[in-house]
Amino acid sequence: MSQQLIIALDQGTTSSRAVLFNHEAELVDVSQREFEQHFPKQGWVEHDANEIWESQFGVLQRLVAANQLTPSDIAAVGITNQRETTVVWNKKTGEPVYNAIVWQDRRTAARCDEISAAGWKERIQEKTGLVIDAYFSASKIEWILNNVSGARELADAGELLFGTVDTWIIWKLTEGAVHATDPSNAARTMLLNINSGEWDEELIELFGIPFSMLPEVRDSSGDFGYLSFQGQEVPISGVAGDQQAALFGQTCFEKGMAKNTYGTGCFMLMNTGAERVDSNSGLLSTIAWSIDGKITYALEGSVFIAGAAVQWLRDELEFIESASDSEALALRANPESDVVVVPAFAGLGAPYWDMYARGAIFGLTRDSGRPEIAKATLQSLAYQIYDVLQAMQKDSGIELSQLNVDGGAIANDFLAQFQADVLQKTVTRPKVLESTALGAAYLAGLKVGYWKVEDLMSVREVEREFSPALAQDKVAHLLKRWHKAVERSKQWVDIDD
Ligand code: ADP
Repeated sequence: MSQQLIIALDQGTTSSRAVLFNHEAELVDVSQREFEQHFPKQGWVEHDANEIWESQFGVLQRLVAANQLTPSDIAAVGITNQRETTVVWNKKTGEPVYNAIVWQDRRTAARCDEISAAGWKERIQEKTGLVIDAYFSASKIEWILNNVSGARELADAGELLFGTVDTWIIWKLTEGAVHATDPSNAARTMLLNINSGEWDEELIELFGIPFSMLPEVRDSSGDFGYLSFQGQEVPISGVAGDQQAALFGQTCFEKGMAKNTYGTGCFMLMNTGAERVDSNSGLLSTIAWSIDGKITYALEGSVFIAGAAVQWLRDELEFIESASDSEALALRANPESDVVVVPAFAGLGAPYWDMYARGAIFGLTRDSGRPEIAKATLQSLAYQIYDVLQAMQKDSGIELSQLNVDGGAIANDFLAQFQADVLQKTVTRPKVLESTALGAAYLAGLKVGYWKVEDLMSVREVEREFSPALAQDKVAHLLKRWHKAVERSKQWVDIDD
């Protein structure tokens, strides 16, 4: 290889990927492997931490072999990962003491309610920027220590280590030499004080977690040890949680820049600069990354069901063979149709936060058919993002001029155009939709001098811009219908059901 390359390891919720980028930030090759999801009880979601590692290492080896890479071909390795998922392992044997408890797992919901009832809400928000929820790692670690036989004793004796998935992968890659994380991942544990960037003693005590279990927090573009192969060492020099990595990959380096990722769910993040911004509208405040010891903050809005609604069209309604067929079907819809789908299959996330809302279809008439329902389903993604964006603009006091997008579902041109129409803003779709992996590559490459920030601004290539093309009064009419539909789907399930 004449030119050095960067490898990004992207450890996601359903698959592990290794992605190779060149200096122009073009995707050279990718290797991917899915792994098993375990659902031992209703509301429980686990991964085998060894399988996470083996699949991640496997795709790395496959990428190296397929491209005949030698250590000198690789300038650095970056890591990005599913966030909040919790691994606890034995320092001596390297064996996890329990399966990884995945971010979606709800087993500690009652414990979180108890902590809220005990009056911790404001204090935890002030320290961590988060709402008290089973989503974050703290209550998952506590559960493992309280429920796995012998775990508490081993932890107290300093024998156990905790890590989010980044930390677990780093520890395995460095053969136990480095036990570290970055602030974007640490901020999702509900144990980090995001004001100082340090572990919070009071919260660690609240959850009964020995300090010795916690990884060292290092800069996102920083030193995480070395990957050894073929007798040489390659630096691991970039780490960030998946959504923050995507924000970086979209080069949202300045305060007020935002991106939205359309995957299974949607995650919108806005860079809020060196100051944290607190939300009154159900958004989280979190750490975006740290570089040269300087923390950059972000506001985050999460929508639970986005691309998953397209999967519903495919798998439950059997309207389409593949997700991409949704576009052609939607384009066949009667333009006069007023059908609205509210995909509250798992309640509603930001900015509504109604766990008791459920999915609904409104406005059906005798001629409503598959095309109208498919169109309304795609439109529901755009409406949800409209609502999150309004909340974000209100909380930050910043009006966005355009929205940077990425993720699998935004390959859909109908959706991208409708998103621009509803927001009345330009939607910018980059050439590389793999912003998450790209962000990890950028963080790693910056640290080793492979790129400079100015290089990154100039290599980002826009594939297509979608400009608003729908009249404002028409948009206002559509939004009115949408908000009416949302109101009617709220509080559907009774609390005692
Ligand atoms: P994740 O990282 O959450 O697994 P991806 O970014 O890979 O998600 O995107 C996959 C999601 O996008 C799926 O939920 C799928 O239904 C949806 N999707 C993929 N392609 C399209 C398309 N052309 N139109 C609409 N939805 C799509």
